[in-house]
Amino acid sequence: MVTVGDICKYLIPKGYTLAVTLEIADATLGGLAFGVGMTTYSHKVGLYQETIVSYEVVLGDGSLVKATKDNEYSDLYHCLPWSHGTLGFLVGLELQIIPVKPYIHMKYIPIKGQKKYCDLIRQYSGAMDKDKETADYIEATIYSKEKAVLMVGNFEDADIAEKSGKINRLSRWYKPWFYKYVETFLDRGESDEYIPLGDYLLRHNRAIFWVVESMIPFGNNPLFRFFVGWLLPPKPAFLKFTTTPGVRAMTFTKQVFQDIVLPMTELERQIDVAEELFDTYPILIYPCRIYDHGEKTGQLRPPRKDQMCPGTNWGMFNDLGVYGVPSAVKRRERFDAVEAYRRMEQFTRDVGGYAFLYADTFMDLKEFKQMFDLTLYERVRKKYKAIGAFPHLYEKVKPEIDVFKVGKEYIDPLS
Ligand SMILES: Cc1cc2nc3c(=O)[nH]c(=O)nc-3n(C[C@H](O)[C@H](O)[C@H](O)COP(=O)(O)OP(=O)(O)OC[C@H]3O[C@@H](n4cnc5c(N)ncnc54)[C@H](O)[C@@H]3O)c2cc1C
Repeated sequence: MVTVGDICKYLIPKGYTLAVTLEIADATLGGLAFGVGMTTYSHKVGLYQETIVSYEVVLGDGSLVKATKDNEYSDLYHCLPWSHGTLGFLVGLELQIIPVKPYIHMKYIPIKGQKKYCDLIRQYSGAMDKDKETADYIEATIYSKEKAVLMVGNFEDADIAEKSGKINRLSRWYKPWFYKYVETFLDRGESDEYIPLGDYLLRHNRAIFWVVESMIPFGNNPLFRFFVGWLLPPKPAFLKFTTTPGVRAMTFTKQVFQDIVLPMTELERQIDVAEELFDTYPILIYPCRIYDHGEKTGQLRPPRKDQMCPGTNWGMFNDLGVYGVPSAVKRRERFDAVEAYRRMEQFTRDVGGYAFLYADTFMDLKEFKQMFDLTLYERVRKKYKAIGAFPHLYEKVKPEIDVFKVGKEYIDPLS
């Protein structure tokens, strides 16, 4: 139950942070371990799971075990990420931390032209060059098919940041939402500033990337921010409590929430497909290594040969984050959400990618097994007495409502 907010408060004053975290203060370290975690440092070290040294887990028979990469529970260790609590209860984690400096020197680089920004994201993240010296943090936000802002951040000492006169405490409650602020650089041109590390790590917290905009369209209004901006983001428990069946149906028929891990070799196609199916911007891009662990593969398959960075055991992938209202819904036209999500999932399987399982899935079990390798997972479930004690992964993550039926009911723009 330790949250990202708790760990940032604890580690940063001591000069450290987690190697991989998430920019949402209420996310838990356990949820990231059993779901998935990825951040703007992941082009250096991969997913959150790569930074987990050990898991302490209570198994289906009530016994407590500690699983590490090399001990007798190493098979369990490899299957716990992306398992969503279907192999045991997590009660302890040992995580890799990194030394930090108190500020991030951030450069905002606006770019016009899809080919140009895709090439620059690949180049800056060292996607195809293992010797490339990369920045500490890399992220891109795409505002239309042809316009993006690349953000490149490096740790910096306090004296340099403080002398610069360019400090921005951007996570304060009255400041503009981060993605709105970043968008201004498309007109203002390239720029740089210094951001206190804690503010940087939680920069997407208040607007939950850009999800809050569809709930509170006036949330970025300066008056709203000044007087009640501290109320954001809404608490997950509050959102769950206020989700009626109608609201639940609209979470996928009138909006889209998807995070998908896709190979960066296909970056242009990812954006084209997302635009064709949903046509909603901004789109989030976080570069992330996906490692080939050989025999010791859990639910993620090794990247394909042409996706590997030459001379390494990893391929550069990225999170494609698509959140918002599809343009067909905005124009009050027919939008077949199930068809759109299924085509996105088909594309993801075709290129060897993975859908984050916190989001709704529309795959049948056969398709799910094409995306995720459940070979070792099934063996581990049997060996560690999870069968009968915990649901199967597919059962746990598939939507709790009949999305096919609900999807049909809401295709019509007036529904
Ligand atoms: C808009 C949006 C954007 C996102 N963007 C990103 C992103 O950029 N990068 C990223 O990495 N992720 C992103 N995520 C997804 C996020 O990583 C997951 O939701 C993650 O699981 C968050 O942690 P949590 O504490 O909320 O997890 P939860 O949803 O609470 O938990 C995840 C799973 O693990 C299980 N679980 C949790 N704790 C335990 C335990 N102690 N024992 C057993 N089982 C347990 C839960 O039952 C659940 O199935 C995004 C999510 C949203 C909504």
